[in-house]
Amino acid sequence: MSAHAELFRAIPSTDKSLEALRTALEDREDEEALAILTAPHILLREAVCAFWEGMRTRIRAGRVQSADELSLATCLPKLVHSVARATSPALHRVINASGVVIHTNTGRSVLAREAAAALQLAASGYTTLELDTATGGRGSRNALLSPLLRMLTGAEDALVVNNNAAGVLLVMDTFCRGREAIISRGELVEIGGSFRIPDVMRATGVTLKEVGTTNRTHAEDYEAAICEETAAIVRVHTSNFRIVGFHKAVETSELAGIAHQKGLLLINDLGSGSLIDFSGTGLPGEPTVQQSVTQGSDLVLFSGDKLLGGPQAGLIVGKAELIARLRRNPLLRALRCDKLVYAALEATLRLYLDPARAREKVPTVRAIFATQEELGKRAAILSERIREQAGDACTLSLRTDSSRCGGGAFPEYPLPTVLCCVQPAAMQPDTLRTLLLDQRPVLLGRIEDNAFCLDVRTLQDEDFPVIARLIGRAVHQGQA
Ligand SMILES: *Cc1c(COP(=O)(O)O)cnc(C)c1O
Repeated sequence: MSAHAELFRAIPSTDKSLEALRTALEDREDEEALAILTAPHILLREAVCAFWEGMRTRIRAGRVQSADELSLATCLPKLVHSVARATSPALHRVINASGVVIHTNTGRSVLAREAAAALQLAASGYTTLELDTATGGRGSRNALLSPLLRMLTGAEDALVVNNNAAGVLLVMDTFCRGREAIISRGELVEIGGSFRIPDVMRATGVTLKEVGTTNRTHAEDYEAAICEETAAIVRVHTSNFRIVGFHKAVETSELAGIAHQKGLLLINDLGSGSLIDFSGTGLPGEPTVQQSVTQGSDLVLFSGDKLLGGPQAGLIVGKAELIARLRRNPLLRALRCDKLVYAALEATLRLYLDPARAREKVPTVRAIFATQEELGKRAAILSERIREQAGDACTLSLRTDSSRCGGGAFPEYPLPTVLCCVQPAAMQPDTLRTLLLDQRPVLLGRIEDNAFCLDVRTLQDEDFPVIARLIGRAVHQGQA
C-alpha cells in the first residue's frame, strides 16, 4: 500500500504536464502536434487528467514498478498520443477498404462531388429553402424536389423526410393510425441496430395483421384478411436477407389489384430502392422505384443514402392526393430535413437525369458497377504504392475475392473483386488491423486467410498515397 502511495505521489501535476506538452510540441508541425496546440484548454486539461487517471488504475493493478515509469520524460510520447486522441473530434475520417459499399458503421454512402459541392454552397450561405422568389414571401421545402422526383420516378408527386424509417412512420400515421394494415409474415424485417420495421409501424397505433407464412404468402391470404378495419396493404422489400427454395410472394401488380378492388392503399417500402437497374452487374433484378410506381403502388418509400448514394433521407413518391395529405400531417414538422440534405439530395438526383452520368459520378453506384478487371488493375497500383512505403516490412500479394453491397441491399450476392493483401513481417495481421483503426484517418480493412486485406472497390484512388503511408508507418512500428 505504501509503495503505491509513493507511486501516486510521483505522478506529475496537470500544470507540469501541460507545460511539458507545450514545450515538446512547440517546434513540431505534424497533425498530432497541431491538434494539441490548437485544442481548447478545457479539453486539454480533461485529457491530461484522464491520462494520469489511467496511470492510477495501472498502479492499483500493480502494473507500475517504479516512479521512473511515471516521469514526464518517460511518459511524454504516450501522453502526446493519448491527448491528441482525446482532444480530436469524435467524428473523423475513415478510409473504407472493407469492400462493403454501403457501410452502415461508417455512414453508408459517400456523396458525389457534385453533391458535396452543393452541400458546401448551402452550408456557407442562405438558400431558397422556403423562399418564394416570385413574391419574396414564404415558400415550402416540402415541394422543392417534386418536379425532379416526378420526372425521375414517374410518380405524381413526392415528399422528402429525414430517413426512410421517418417515411414509414409518417405514412402509417397519416393513413393507418387506429386501423389495420395487412403485411406478409415473410416481410416482417429487422433492419439492423435491433430496429424492426413492424415496431416503427406499430408506434403509430396501427394494428399489423400478419398473413401467410415466413416462406410463402398467397393472394388469397391477403384477400381473406381484409375487413372493415383495414386501411392498407403494406409491402416491405426484404432487401437484407434472401429466402431461397420453397418461396412465394405475391407480385406487386397483383397486390395492387387486390388493394384497389377493396378501396385500400398499397404502400410499398422498398428500403434500399434504386432508380437504376443493377441486373447488369450480376445482381438479381430488384424492382426499381419506377417499376414499383408503374406496378400500381400508391406510395413508394426508399432511402436516400442506400443504393441511391445520396445523403440520409427518406423519399416518398406516389399519388398526388396522398402526398398532399402527408404534407398536412403536423408530424411532418418533426420529420423534415434541413437545407444541407436538400442541397445534397437534389444534386445527387440531378445526376440520375442521365443514368450513364449517375453510374460514373455517384460513388455508391460506380463502386457496385466496378468490374473485377478494373479492380485488379487498381489493386496492383495500390500494392505498388504500399511496397514503396513499407519496403520489406511486409509481404504483398493480390487475390480474388468478393465484396458486398451492404446497407441491406443484395445480401448473399457477392461482387467479384481483387484484394490487396498485406502480411506484416513482425506482427500478426490482426495487430496491424488494430493499429490502423487507431490511426488518423482510420483505415478499415478486413482479415482474410491470415492477411490484412484492402478491397479497392470502396477506395478512392486519390487516397492511395495516404493508405500507403499509414500501412508503411504501422508495419515499421512492428519492427521497431
Ligand atoms: C433500411 C430500411 C429502412 C430504413 O431506412 P432508413 O433510411 O435507414 O431509415 C426501412 N425499410 C427497409 C425495408 C429498409 O431496408
